[in-house]
Amino acid sequence: MNHEFFEIISRVEFESLLESFPAVDTVRVSIADAFGMVLGEDIISPEDLPPANRSCMDGYALNARDAFGATEGNPAYLECSATLKVDENPEFELQPGECAAIPTGGTLPDGADAVVMVEHTQDLGSGTIEIRKSSAPGEHTMLKGEDVAKGNIIFQAGHKVRFQDVGLLAALGIKEVFIHRKPRVGIISTGDELVEIDSPQKIGTIRDVNSHTLRCLVNGSGAEAVNYGIVRDELDKLESTLEKAIAENDLVLLSGGSSVGMRDLTVQAIESMQDSAILAHGVAISPGKPTILGRAGNKPVLGLPGQVTSVQVVMLALVVPFIRRLMGQKNAFSGTDRMLVQAELGRNTVSKPGREDYVRMKLTYRDGELPLAEPIYGKSGLLKTMIQADGLMIIPADTEGFYAGNMVNIWKI
Ligand code: AMP
Ligand code: MG
Repeated sequence: MNHEFFEIISRVEFESLLESFPAVDTVRVSIADAFGMVLGEDIISPEDLPPANRSCMDGYALNARDAFGATEGNPAYLECSATLKVDENPEFELQPGECAAIPTGGTLPDGADAVVMVEHTQDLGSGTIEIRKSSAPGEHTMLKGEDVAKGNIIFQAGHKVRFQDVGLLAALGIKEVFIHRKPRVGIISTGDELVEIDSPQKIGTIRDVNSHTLRCLVNGSGAEAVNYGIVRDELDKLESTLEKAIAENDLVLLSGGSSVGMRDLTVQAIESMQDSAILAHGVAISPGKPTILGRAGNKPVLGLPGQVTSVQVVMLALVVPFIRRLMGQKNAFSGTDRMLVQAELGRNTVSKPGREDYVRMKLTYRDGELPLAEPIYGKSGLLKTMIQADGLMIIPADTEGFYAGNMVNIWKI
């Protein structure tokens, strides 16, 4: 059967359809397992960090007033009333004219508001310390609550947990947090010509590339890929595999059969599912136009192009951010996870208006200058443009291209 594309919609419109799907549910995990995942709760600091004023240096804790104006030539002299250990909670108050020897990380006694580095002091013996440098209140100290004050929201729901965040949670004694669980993503390759990768080369067959690249991108985004293998272009086979994949996953990706040809069965297969709808067929990006968004019940189903390069670009541009969105990440479609490199464009690069282009780019690094970025052209059925590319350059739909010499942003891939 022949279909027509729906009205082709912009990438932004496609994203807003994707945004209508809710995030997967949350689970409680240890903070180490939360790394890379997205918080499902606001985290409020249960305590002040540090819990008391601490020294940042080895030296002497003092009241800055007592060494005001001290210099090498005009030092101040203080009585050393204690030698503190790093794990000690000093239970005395420093009196005027006194100081206390303190190690890095040690807790300041009451009455002290600064630390003078040991390098700027001299122990004269019999408890007298010569202070050769003036110090300002707060100098070389971390104040109580300076890292985090008790009761503050330190991370909001929707925040992606980074390694440094795990460090703060550990410092606050938070062992477990609620995160959105890994979505399960079913992957189906479709096409009569497709064979497994251990098949010998035979004219008329094509080894299944997309299952493998999709699996990498799905798992790399923090979700869990579930492979449903190769399905021939036969509607009943496609329907039964799709039905199983929908039942077992939070999102299903099909590659191949997403266009409008005789053997393009993805639309029909999605439509045959219970309580289903096609939400979009065709998105104004290149490569990647023949992309389908459907739903079966409340689960999203994406029909992706079969062309090896097109599907990789659609995965990067739309599907990986969508997976992050399913994982609860705020602003998943804003490009927050993209690593951009500024470069000088080496050649005029034109684009057809009306569609957003994802041009494969090679970067050449140069000493003391911005890297040079050059487009790599080639058909979307070839693997080599993505193999040679270091990144993608996005040419917006309303732009006809960029000139050689322009400064451009390259999205590293
Ligand atoms: P289709 O969208 O099904 O017409 O496929 C477009 C092109 O992509 C055809 O040349 C297919 O052979 C190729 N193709 C489709 N699926 C895959 C796959 N899983 N691995 C490699 N090539 C594929
Ligand atoms: Mg096909």
